[in-house]
Amino acid sequence: MNQLGHFINGAAVTGSNQRNSAVFNPATGEQTAQLSLASVTEVEQAIQVASDALPAWAATPAVRRARVMMKFLQLLNDHVDELALLISQEHGKVLDDAKGEVTRGIEVVEFACGIPHLLKGEYSENVGTRVDSWSVRQPVGVCAGISPFNFPVMVPLWMFPIAIACGNTFIMKPSEKDPTSTLRLAELFAEAGLPKGVFNVVNGDKEAVDTLLKHPSVSAISFVGSTPIAKYVQKTGIEFGKRVQALGGAKNHAIVMPDADIDSTVNALMGAAYGSAGERCMAISVAVTVGDIADPLIAALKEKLKDLRVLPGTDLEAEMGPLVTQQHLDTVLRFVDSGVQEGADLVVDGRQLQHPDHGDGYFMGGCLFDNVTPNMRIYQQEIFGPVLAVVRVDDYEQALELINSHEYGNGTAIFTQEGHAAREFASRVQAGMVGINVPIPVPMAFHSFGGWKSSLFGDHHMHGMEGIRFFTKLKTVTSRWQVSKSQSQFSMPTMK
Ligand code: NAD
Repeated sequence: MNQLGHFINGAAVTGSNQRNSAVFNPATGEQTAQLSLASVTEVEQAIQVASDALPAWAATPAVRRARVMMKFLQLLNDHVDELALLISQEHGKVLDDAKGEVTRGIEVVEFACGIPHLLKGEYSENVGTRVDSWSVRQPVGVCAGISPFNFPVMVPLWMFPIAIACGNTFIMKPSEKDPTSTLRLAELFAEAGLPKGVFNVVNGDKEAVDTLLKHPSVSAISFVGSTPIAKYVQKTGIEFGKRVQALGGAKNHAIVMPDADIDSTVNALMGAAYGSAGERCMAISVAVTVGDIADPLIAALKEKLKDLRVLPGTDLEAEMGPLVTQQHLDTVLRFVDSGVQEGADLVVDGRQLQHPDHGDGYFMGGCLFDNVTPNMRIYQQEIFGPVLAVVRVDDYEQALELINSHEYGNGTAIFTQEGHAAREFASRVQAGMVGINVPIPVPMAFHSFGGWKSSLFGDHHMHGMEGIRFFTKLKTVTSRWQVSKSQSQFSMPTMK
């Protein structure tokens, strides 16, 4: 059995804790590794290592930090296939999708390579007579990241390359469900020439997270995961004096206007609802149909779902893989049962699907509900599985009101051919990321990623300039060089 531990001070470390958790291949149901869950002492050791590495790394010129990033970028590009395979074997997503995840993560490293330019401050000459003023962005210190199971490469890459490029040191705590690809990132970063201790990975559960949240030497926490844990992380981190960005769950709606092009909308919804088995925070889980487009849309979705190829993620024919764990599969199946009990029409029922050769794999087929209403659990809660709910409304205002009154506000989309409706929607919708005929509007690395309402707690979105702001402290210096001796001044200084 493969035994997985941590990556601390530039090397793989076998965990010494007695507590372990099992890692499975979701396509077969077989346990593939045993993961050591870090104890308080082990996390404290990683924090000490990151604290020791901080002064030298923070003082390293940004151009030299950027050069390490460029080597890391090269290594990542050389290992896309390997990383994608590691993701697929533990998460279950199909290989092409896993490659897409790695690519989206690599784009953040490309952005971080521009750190000398990104850290440039502002300078004002002569804010007063012989007085100059300038601002600089300095590292916040030891930072920590806690990531979810559904993007074990991309989400960590949203966090640590920017933090480290800014001169911080970092401790990453990946999901215990699929830790191997994140550990591999640490090896590649070390190979790129990153000094020991600047980037560390500790595997673990609540015990590890709580140690990071409460330790006085950790200055900033970047979290992505479910809403209850995001709320807890933000509250606890703030209580212990840290800056926190905590991204939570989602229930992303797409409005389908009566004039939407059916074929392209159906293709977009198929990918957005069933891609990665719906285990994406930007998945579309609710389609709000306006007027009489519902019938042709549902008929077309039904046809497409018949042909959806649900296979192991490593099968090149696969369009959708298994869910991540048996426990998660059971939760999703219970949601589908509850939708039926509450009176929604289950137009396509994927509950019985099994893989003929992998009876123990965590497979289910895509499910499609019609006539879903806002009082149902399948409408209100995040399912995080391959389940699309169709809600029928009469007009655009009702559709917009549904989105704006929902608890979550991560991403959303509108499908229409009318510019005015799209413009109105982008302006009035209460969500952090908006697509116009784009089902999954994940911003590029040089923009920033984040939701509103219960989808994000804290002030900063991820990566882009928001990431630079989150991982740096602003300092403004005001300097006067006298030509003659000064006198004491007791009133509020004003510049003359
Ligand atoms: P999760 O909240 O269960 O776990 C996330 C991380 O928190 C993991 O590292 C886990 O070990 C840790 N954790 C779990 N329970 C904890 C506890 N009680 N105390 C401290 N730490 C704890 O989330 P998940 O199931 O791994 O991921 C799926 C969720 O993540 C979904 O809700 C999804 O919407 C969300 N997500 C959000 C975004 C976004 O950008 N908003 C992106 C990806 C995933």
